[in-house]
Amino acid sequence: QSPKPTRIGLAGLAVMGQNLALNIAEKGFSISVYNRSASKVDETVERAKLEGDLPVFGFHDPESFVHSIQKPRVIIMLVKAGAPVDQTIKSLSAYMEKGDCIIDGGNEWYENTERREKAMAELGLLYLGMGVSGGEEGARNGPSLMPGGSFEAYKRIEDIIHKVAAQVPDSGPCVTYVGKGGSGNFVKMIHNGIEYGDMQLIAEAYDVLKSVGKLSNEELRDVFYEWNKGELQSFLIEITADIFGVKDVQGDGYLVDKVLDKTGMKGTGKWTVQQAAELSVAAPTIEASLDSRFLSGLKEERVEASKLFKAGGFGDILTDQEVDKAKLIHDVRQALYASKICSYAQGMNLIRAKSIEKGWDLKLGELARIWKGGCIIRAIFLDRIKKAYDRNADLANLLVDPEFAQEMIERQSAWRRVVCLSINAGISTPGMSASLAYFDSYRRERLPANLVQAQRDYFGAHTYERTDIPGSFHTEWFKIA
Ligand code: NAP
Repeated sequence: QSPKPTRIGLAGLAVMGQNLALNIAEKGFSISVYNRSASKVDETVERAKLEGDLPVFGFHDPESFVHSIQKPRVIIMLVKAGAPVDQTIKSLSAYMEKGDCIIDGGNEWYENTERREKAMAELGLLYLGMGVSGGEEGARNGPSLMPGGSFEAYKRIEDIIHKVAAQVPDSGPCVTYVGKGGSGNFVKMIHNGIEYGDMQLIAEAYDVLKSVGKLSNEELRDVFYEWNKGELQSFLIEITADIFGVKDVQGDGYLVDKVLDKTGMKGTGKWTVQQAAELSVAAPTIEASLDSRFLSGLKEERVEASKLFKAGGFGDILTDQEVDKAKLIHDVRQALYASKICSYAQGMNLIRAKSIEKGWDLKLGELARIWKGGCIIRAIFLDRIKKAYDRNADLANLLVDPEFAQEMIERQSAWRRVVCLSINAGISTPGMSASLAYFDSYRRERLPANLVQAQRDYFGAHTYERTDIPGSFHTEWFKIA
C-alpha cells in the first residue's frame, strides 16, 4: 500500500493498461491500479517490482482503489470499448466525488464519449476520451496520445501525459489537447483508418515485388531497409523489413510465407469508412484497405475460385513476365509514396469535415505533429504534412500543397507503370489503384459527372446546372431524343 494517496489511478490492466501504468510510474508519478480480474493486478504489481521498483500500488476492489488516489482524483480506464466502459464507470463513479475525473484511453466510438461526458457532468465529474496509439511497446515506452473532451480534465493530467508520451527531438511530446467532445476518439479512429491504408499499400508493394519481380525474402528485407532510410522512413516500413528476415522455427524457410493470408480487424477501420460516407468525403484508399481485409477473410471461397479459373484455363498470368528488378523496385517505391500521400489527404480531409460539422476547430498540422512519434503510423513524412498545414492551415487537400504537388508530378509515371503492370499481371493493387484514381479525379478540371447529372435529370427530373448560364435547368430529354 502507498503511504500517501497516489497521484493517479488506472483501471483495466490488459496489454495497454498494464504498460501505460508502468510508463506513468516510471516517470515518477505514483499510481494505483485496478482490474476486474484480480490476477492482472498482482501481475502488474509484480512487473513494477521487477522493472525497477516502480511506484505501482494494486487494489482488488473499486472502493479501496478509488479511495487510494489523491483528490481531486484522476482515473484512466483501459478496458474493452462499449459496454465494459459503462460498467467500469458505474463501478468506479459510485465512490468518486464531485470534481474527480475519468479518462477513457480505449478505442471508443466518439459518440459514446460525448454521451458519457454529459452523464458524468450531471454527477459533477469531468470526462475525457483519450486515444492512445502505439500498441504494447508505445504504451510502455511512449505512446502518441490524443485527449479530447473537458479541457479542465486535460489540464489535470497535462504534466503526466507530457512526460509519458513519446518525445520527438525538435518537435516535443506526442500529445496535444485535441479538442472538445469526442474529438480525441475521432482523431484516433482516423489514425487507425490511415494505418489500414498504410498497411494495405505496403502489402501491395510486397505483392508486386514478390509476384512480378520475383524478389526473395532476403531481397525484400534489403529493399525495405533501404526504403526506410529515405522519404518512406516509418515504423511500418521498418517492421516490414524485420518481418522478411524472420525464419520459421517450426519448419523450413521464412515465417511470413507460412502466415495465413487472412487479416483480422477490430472495427476502427470500418468506423472510418462509415464516417467517410456520413460526411460525404471520398476516402477510396482507406475503403480499399477495408475491402481487402473483407476479401482476405474469404480464404476458402478464394481457394475454390482459384481452382475453377485454373481449370478453365485462366491461371496465373504473371509467371513468365520478364522484368528489370532495379527499375521495378524504383517504380514501386514511387507508387507507394504517391499512394500514401493520397491516403493521408483522405484521412486529413475526414478530420477537417468532422471538425467543421462539430465545431471542434481541430488543428491538422498539430495532429500530424503528435503522430510523428509513438504511434503505428509514425513516419518522417508527417513532418512534411505538418509543414504543409503550417504554410496554409486552410489547405483544401494535401495534394495541392506546392511541395506535395511537385512530388506527385515527379512520381505519377512510375505509379501508373506499377498499376498497369499489376493489372496486366493479374494481381490486384486496390489501394494503389484507388489512390491513383483519387489523384486523377481530383486533378481533372472536368469529369464525366455531366453525363451522370443528365441521366438523373432524364429519369428523375433532378435538374442540372449549366457551364455557361446560371440557374437550374430541366430538360424533357426523352421527348427530344
Ligand atoms: P482489451 O483486450 O481490449 O480489453 C481487456 C480489458 O478489458 C481487461 O482489463 C478486461 O478485464 C477488461 N474488461 C472487459 N470486459 C469488462 C467488463 N465488462 N468490465 C470491466 N472490465 C472489463 O485490452 P487492451 O488490448 O489492453 O485494450 C484496451 C483498450 O485500448 C481497448 O479499447 C483497445 O481497443 C485500445 N487499444 C488497444 C491497443 C492494442 O494494441 N492492444 C492499441 C491501442 C488502443 P478482465 O481482465 O477482468 O477480463
